[in-house]
Amino acid sequence: MNRVAFFPGKYIQGRRTILQLQDLIRQYGSKAIVLASATARTYIPEKYLQPPLSGSICIHQFGGECSEEELQRVSDCILKERADVLVGMGGGKVVDAAKIAADRAGIPVLIVPTIASTDAPCSGCAVTYSPDGVFERVYYQRSNPAVVLVDMDIMVQAPHRFLVAGMGDALATWFEARSCAASSSVNECGGLSTNAGQHLARLCYDILLKYGVQAKLENEKGVVGEALNHIIEANILLSGIGFESGGLAAAHAIHNGLTILPGTHAFYHGEKVAYGVLAGLHINGSSDEELNEVYGFCRSVGLPLTLEEVGVSVNDKEGLMKIAHKSAEDGSSIHHEGPGITAEKVYDALIKSDSYGRHFLNNGGSAG
Ligand SMILES: [Zn+2]
Repeated sequence: MNRVAFFPGKYIQGRRTILQLQDLIRQYGSKAIVLASATARTYIPEKYLQPPLSGSICIHQFGGECSEEELQRVSDCILKERADVLVGMGGGKVVDAAKIAADRAGIPVLIVPTIASTDAPCSGCAVTYSPDGVFERVYYQRSNPAVVLVDMDIMVQAPHRFLVAGMGDALATWFEARSCAASSSVNECGGLSTNAGQHLARLCYDILLKYGVQAKLENEKGVVGEALNHIIEANILLSGIGFESGGLAAAHAIHNGLTILPGTHAFYHGEKVAYGVLAGLHINGSSDEELNEVYGFCRSVGLPLTLEEVGVSVNDKEGLMKIAHKSAEDGSSIHHEGPGITAEKVYDALIKSDSYGRHFLNNGGSAG
């Protein structure tokens, strides 16, 4: 099998980078549609909305779900306006919808994330849902976004829970890439992992440990500091390249399992993925030292340590078994952890990760 890695065309992160959007659009085409959520729309500079600029940039409000219905609306708008560039501005669902719609239209896509809660902006795959939010499928694009433009003055305004959830998604990157390399499993690019994928995934983890807490504090205080810059890059760029080129394993499989129970729907993707990391560590027999490091990190930034913190009761045996079966189904990325992963093993890991978390919380930071 080939070693394969995918990357976005350009990644730009800094203060007021939104002001570069118009020049970037011009590099790729002459008529752009900006697909923006209601919140993201407020970040678009007023001058872009005035004539004569408004003739070359048209705003299309996102409908709220990355569904086939919404994708059709965006496609119709691209045709009607004869747009040759699409800009996706907002959270994960807008980003995904823009990536798919641009791929179908055969035009470049520029991504302007307004929150750092997932690693969707840099990748070349996206998830579609039914209009009422049920997972449908993963859609792989021909290429990754042409540009990912990160404006720190927008990012710092987002509630810190988004940043923390993004750290949860980023936390999985190293552990899943490591498992894929150890088991020679296929990554999200359809090949084996490269050194670049592995090392960027590890760098992502190191940055989380070093700057996670400080970045959360900066975000809470509205300060664009060094730590926030490091963590935004880890959440969006390093985690994005890391998961796609390193591969997925237990954490995302357990996330998918958790989504089976409606009680978990109030929690963000990255929060559930973080719990998946903890359960995954118990599947692959991590050392006490590693467990304490990861549980300690989760505790320090406010990621979940127990099932209760992702909306699942540890006494709901039937529910836990449903999660375990979904996580361990055929084709699940959990099998990238190695052979012999069964629903029973996942069930045990869910219980063990929860009791380790409780013990950890009760003993002030060490269960080993
Ligand atoms: Zn993820």
